[in-house]
Amino acid sequence: MKRFLAAITYLIATASAGCGLNVAALTEADPFLCYTVVMKDPALDLVSVTGSVYGSLDGKVPFTAANPGGGRLLEPLGLAARDLSGRPLEITADGVSWIVRNEGRDFTFSYDVVLSIGDRYTPEIRGMLSMIGADRSRLMGRDIFLLPGTLFSEGILVDIDTGHEGGLHSTWECTGGRIIVPEVADLASTLAVSGAYRELEAEVSGTRLSLAIAGEWLFTDEDLFRVVREVVSLEISMFGSSPHGKHLFVCEPNPVRGPGVFDYYGVHFAGSMLLLLDPAMDGSLLFDTPMAVVAHEFFHNWNGEALQPSDESFMWFTEGATVYYSYRVLVDSGVIAGDQYERQAENIRRRYLDNPYLADIAIGEAANRDLSDRGMVNLLYDGGFLAAEALDREISEATSGRVSLIDVLRSLYERHPGGATIDEEVLRLAVIELTGRDIGPLVSELVHSKAPEMLSASRLSS
Ligand SMILES: [Zn+2]
Repeated sequence: MKRFLAAITYLIATASAGCGLNVAALTEADPFLCYTVVMKDPALDLVSVTGSVYGSLDGKVPFTAANPGGGRLLEPLGLAARDLSGRPLEITADGVSWIVRNEGRDFTFSYDVVLSIGDRYTPEIRGMLSMIGADRSRLMGRDIFLLPGTLFSEGILVDIDTGHEGGLHSTWECTGGRIIVPEVADLASTLAVSGAYRELEAEVSGTRLSLAIAGEWLFTDEDLFRVVREVVSLEISMFGSSPHGKHLFVCEPNPVRGPGVFDYYGVHFAGSMLLLLDPAMDGSLLFDTPMAVVAHEFFHNWNGEALQPSDESFMWFTEGATVYYSYRVLVDSGVIAGDQYERQAENIRRRYLDNPYLADIAIGEAANRDLSDRGMVNLLYDGGFLAAEALDREISEATSGRVSLIDVLRSLYERHPGGATIDEEVLRLAVIELTGRDIGPLVSELVHSKAPEMLSASRLSS
């Protein structure tokens, strides 16, 4: 492994075009992989992808498209593979994967991929996040890379040339047009942007924070960056450290406009975040609840990613506690005032009480139901928020304010720095350990009974 890392360092230092040129430096290393992504036809949103596989002694290497989570799967056009002497290799497809029969030889494979979607109002907008524009491009790994099913060395080299003026910014470290993706498992969540993005950088709590922003706004880049920096700094301090060494925020105008659709939203993956905001958004809104989207998605670095829910039955907590802390963080960082929080919480409570499923479905069951149903989503998020708030209050009262829910999350994160799966029992035991209080009965009442009495009381009288 050390030898391989030394070779990687060499590759970065030479920054040559195409990783195949430096193969000599890598002989005897573990099997490794690299990709080159080149713009083929911007008018058709078409890019060419070439992958190179070295040192794989298996007779075959399977490739699959990443699961975009409800969106469309990558379709590799004109997929072909050749060994290093240019001889074509057989590729078989079994409906799930493409298998390159390399017979132990090094090889390259190539295909084209179209990065446009027809209807941005479909759920695909969540699945497919790439964009080819006149002056800039946004590339999302899962839209682009066929992923090998074979084990490879850490450090996958990805060279990107989109032909735009301006540097490349990515989730991972990059030099010139080259990104080093830590592992095969990280390829799908790799975000890279190039072209007309303005970059702001800062060191925050031992991590590198980078904002790549494009488009015209009613606020300055620095204003947005200041808010992002405060949220990031505060959330890292809540957990003591970040699971990632670098955080990239990409901010762009949301292409989806019109009534009934999102004016702003964020998507989080592997420490990076894509923020699609309404270009008409006033600067004053930076100090209002729209910034909860930043706080929310960033909080998922811990609650959701490092601490993963065991399954749908614990989503009420993963989303509910994240909604709750996204607002608490805005209060603590001074982005919103305490009374704005109270108003927002009261709005959530009213919407929860008006939910059409209130009497029939418990909060803890919502994520097992049809989440394309707006009412069901609201039941999960609004109910989860109220339940998390009530849990925090219970924990705080049981310890005279000495312990709060965030201390429980932090202790779980500190105990499992490499990541862990959590569920209600793990949470219950962690709370008992820190407070002596068993929250089991409270959780049963809040999230497993229908229309719990204690969430129906007005906040104002409590
Ligand atoms: Zn969320």
